[in-house]
Amino acid sequence: MGSQEKTGRGLDTDVQFLKGVGPKHAAALNKLGAHTVRDVLFMVPRRYEDRREIPPISFLRPGQHASVRGRIVDVFTKPVRGGRVLLRASLQDDTGRIALVWFNQPWVAKQLQKVKGEVIAYGQIKEGDRRTMEMLSPEWEELDEGEESDEFARLVPVYGLSEGVPQWLVRKAAKSAVELFATMVVDPLPEAVRKAEKVAPLTWALRQMHMPEDTKHRDKARERLVFEEFLYLQLMLQLRKMQVHEEVGIPFPISPAVRSELKSLFPFELTGAQKRVIEEIYADMERPAPMNRLLQGDVGSGKTAVAAAAMLACVRCGYQAALMAPTEILAEQHYINIHRMFDPLGIETRLLVGKQTAAQKKKAVEAARSGQAQICIGTHALIQEGVGFARLGLAIIDEQHRFGVLQRAALRAKGYGNPDVLVMTATPIPRTLTMTLYGDLDLSVIDEMPPGRKPIKTHWKRAAERPAVYESVKKLLKEGRQAYFVCPVIAESEKMQTQAAQDLYYRLSEGELKEYKVGLLHGQMKPVEKEETMDAFRRGALDVLVSTVVIEVGVDVPNASVMVVEDANRFGLSQLHQLRGRVGRGEWQSFCVLVADAGNPDAQKRLEVLVATTDGFRIAEEDLKIRGPGDVAGTKQHGTDIDFQFANLVLDGKLLEKARGAAIRILEDDPGLKKRENAALLARVKEKRPEEALVSVS
Ligand code: ADP
Ligand code: MG
Repeated sequence: MGSQEKTGRGLDTDVQFLKGVGPKHAAALNKLGAHTVRDVLFMVPRRYEDRREIPPISFLRPGQHASVRGRIVDVFTKPVRGGRVLLRASLQDDTGRIALVWFNQPWVAKQLQKVKGEVIAYGQIKEGDRRTMEMLSPEWEELDEGEESDEFARLVPVYGLSEGVPQWLVRKAAKSAVELFATMVVDPLPEAVRKAEKVAPLTWALRQMHMPEDTKHRDKARERLVFEEFLYLQLMLQLRKMQVHEEVGIPFPISPAVRSELKSLFPFELTGAQKRVIEEIYADMERPAPMNRLLQGDVGSGKTAVAAAAMLACVRCGYQAALMAPTEILAEQHYINIHRMFDPLGIETRLLVGKQTAAQKKKAVEAARSGQAQICIGTHALIQEGVGFARLGLAIIDEQHRFGVLQRAALRAKGYGNPDVLVMTATPIPRTLTMTLYGDLDLSVIDEMPPGRKPIKTHWKRAAERPAVYESVKKLLKEGRQAYFVCPVIAESEKMQTQAAQDLYYRLSEGELKEYKVGLLHGQMKPVEKEETMDAFRRGALDVLVSTVVIEVGVDVPNASVMVVEDANRFGLSQLHQLRGRVGRGEWQSFCVLVADAGNPDAQKRLEVLVATTDGFRIAEEDLKIRGPGDVAGTKQHGTDIDFQFANLVLDGKLLEKARGAAIRILEDDPGLKKRENAALLARVKEKRPEEALVSVS
């Protein structure tokens, strides 16, 4: 503990006191956000360079990522086309030469000219013009004399840098921090937890992260750090869940009369999965604690029927139910369906959406407030100020991915005390994300499709094959089916999007599909027009609906059996899956035709996945791999932070499961984290995610 005596501040010691740093270099470390020794200890290397295996230059092959080591023998710059400046440096070892190439980076030339010893460069090997080996914009560093013997033949961490911060400095600081201070780090994980979960102590993990003995140790260290990070999240979610379970909600005694009434609600027999999740929901509703449940089910799995079952039980206990949908089209469609089911039972359903006239809205708001409206269906208009309910007992939120945590809370806040909350999502979310974003909710999954559905056949056609595509669509139209045509996504503006839809509409209605009734639907239409068009398509007065992505969510026309997606490469994977779910809703064999020329590799991958599977969960996993967790979850809207310091949701699913199990076990033993050995855990949970703690109580 010599250094602690010297500085007296332990881990809060300023970085300038680290061996080999000093005030000047401290400023550079500060640029990376590292002010104290603790900051340095917790800097995560971006990758590791395996200096135990640096291949001789003559062994290099194009395409390979590799480190090379040698002397700089030649540096020259010259202007090239486009006003750019080319910099070429030759690196040589005993076996050959490789060219390091940069554009427009004159300062690199200056640095290279100053190099005295050997250099290590890392990058992808390419074959240059004259069959020479090249590396474009490699990462590189000079090996200084002292470093050479020490650093060679090791796994060396590579840290993310800023301008003017050399790699060797961060390495030196990290090494000194580990050697002098790592033992001062107090492990927040109690020993019992570490033993039970078989994870390494923190001090050991930090040492191995910065100075790994080998890849196995490094991976074990990372595992420990990821586990800890996940554990805080899972503890927080489990605590939030327990908190909701302890609140006093509304017990809904569900009578046998309700169960028999339920049967008369639908023109079909419920699937086994629907029956099971309805029982899960009823069990929650009967309990005095408020329900807080997520209902997951792929498009077309029949979530609306489940929602209806919950609403029936709520209404028969004398409370109101509300159903909030993300778009007006969807809200209206729910309204039509729900009204049709409940009207014969004498249960009053009302719609509230933004586009209604002031008088219509006023009536709906009045009916909600007085309690006359037993079921209210709407968009976010439902959570606006001035909308209140006499006795709201159940809040259902459809298509959660469009709403945020805050909207969920806002609807709940309109309840009578603590209403039951059911969140429905049609976006299959990979399990890792479900556990992260919805870990505080109980989960019900509809994992079975209504009977008689034939899996949708998906084809990928090139633009040149359009005539054949139209022919097959016409054949289906002749048989009495209906078709969707979806126009490309145009990011630039709503106006251009509309233009694209109109163009396609004219092309089809005056050309290829002249003999059919074609309708057009786009975002800039007046709500009334949209509704009329949707209605005509539903009734079968239109054979073909040309549309922008406004039909993405929830539209239900069982007779529509084919969808053609134009420029399908412009859509995201989950979005295409959602779109495709508009067909295959009836007894007919349905088709989805993706029209696209081969684009970039990601786009190509997306189309291949869609052709290969209709399993929403598999698609979601692939989407996660292609796009990364932030985009898949739309986390900006969720208001949930899933940026991890160590963890990666794509890679660390197993560790997330493990952390979840551990969190549950820890809380079973110590529900409030009140035991002394868990004090550090509780402190971390609180400090890590204060913003979510706020949301959880609303
Ligand atoms: P989603 O889960 O996508 O919201 P919906 O609730 O819109 O699915 O249901 C899709 C279609 O399947 C609807 O036409 C609905 O009437 C029908 N459906 C739902 N459950 C069943 C069932 N058990 N048997 C037959 N058809 C069903
Ligand atoms: Mg739905």
